[in-house]
Amino acid sequence: MPNILDGKKLAQEIELTLKQTIESGSEVAKRPPGLAVLRVGNDPASGVYVNYKEKACERVGVRSFAKHFKEDISLEELREIINNLNEEKDIDGILLQLPLPSHLDEDSLLSSIDPDKDADGLHPLNLGLLIKGEKGPRSCTPAGVMSLLNRNQIKIEGKRAVVVGRSVLVGKPMALMLEAANATVTVAHSKTKDLPSLTREADLLVVAAGKPYLIGKNHVSENCVVIDVGIHRLPPEQENLKESKKTKLCGDVKMFEIEDKVAAYSPVPGGVGPMTVTMLLANTVDRWQKHCGLPLTISHLLP
Ligand code: NAP
Repeated sequence: MPNILDGKKLAQEIELTLKQTIESGSEVAKRPPGLAVLRVGNDPASGVYVNYKEKACERVGVRSFAKHFKEDISLEELREIINNLNEEKDIDGILLQLPLPSHLDEDSLLSSIDPDKDADGLHPLNLGLLIKGEKGPRSCTPAGVMSLLNRNQIKIEGKRAVVVGRSVLVGKPMALMLEAANATVTVAHSKTKDLPSLTREADLLVVAAGKPYLIGKNHVSENCVVIDVGIHRLPPEQENLKESKKTKLCGDVKMFEIEDKVAAYSPVPGGVGPMTVTMLLANTVDRWQKHCGLPLTISHLLP
């Protein structure tokens, strides 16, 4: 039987560590960690994600300063708000929920966040630290994948890893983190030829293509460990498939096709999603310890 990499359970364990860390440090720090989550417009998926993040903050004792702005907010207004949050002493982390409406330049806004308060690890300086292998806030989804692999004692060193997807949010930092852990990494994208042959060579396959059910049994070899980052509402014509009896969500991988073939896999839901939120909290608590002059006790949780 393949091993199911249970992100929900691991996220709960890490949350407990973060909660205890906050409780034991708050007396010296004289305040809890603070996270500002900025949402623009009415994208329904963003609304759901922001909600998850606020609830997670509440569970561990991070003070959440959620701000929701109208769709037509200008770049200058939003930059000014970010500048003010950069100066705010009670705020340790700032997260700009993506995607933004098309008139707002994501790169310029992400760059205006103080890199020391970059809860999502997407500031160019922090991406540079990742390239150099130096400590810093890490992009939450790939950090969550690394934690899921490490805590399940999946050996990475010397393995052949294939990452499907090359976004700055997931694929690129994922490849860098796996390489830093001494895997030999290949990155596939939409122009890659003969994807099944490439992915079949992988000992470790991370799929972040944003395409429902892209990967099936012909894409994987036995003993492969498969991480599914994708998350989608099941297309209506596929709601009769086996998975839909349990959930209306699906990933980039047809888990029902590969679950009896591979060595281990992360389910959707309950795999990478909860780990992403937990890594956001871990980045924030790590920043809080730094800002308040506390010992940095949780940086080992971040790759
Ligand atoms: P993205 O920005 O759309 O990037 C998708 C990447 O996949 C691109 O590099 C694209 O290649 C590549 N790709 C698309 N079709 C492909 C194909 N047929 N074969 C090979 N590669 C292909 O998406 P993202 O932001 O990285 O997110 C990816 C998925 O992860 C989405 O489903 C998203 O919802 C999910 N996600 C989940 C979490 C979580 O917490 N679980 C967090 C973040 C994202 P090109 O570069 O050539 O276009």
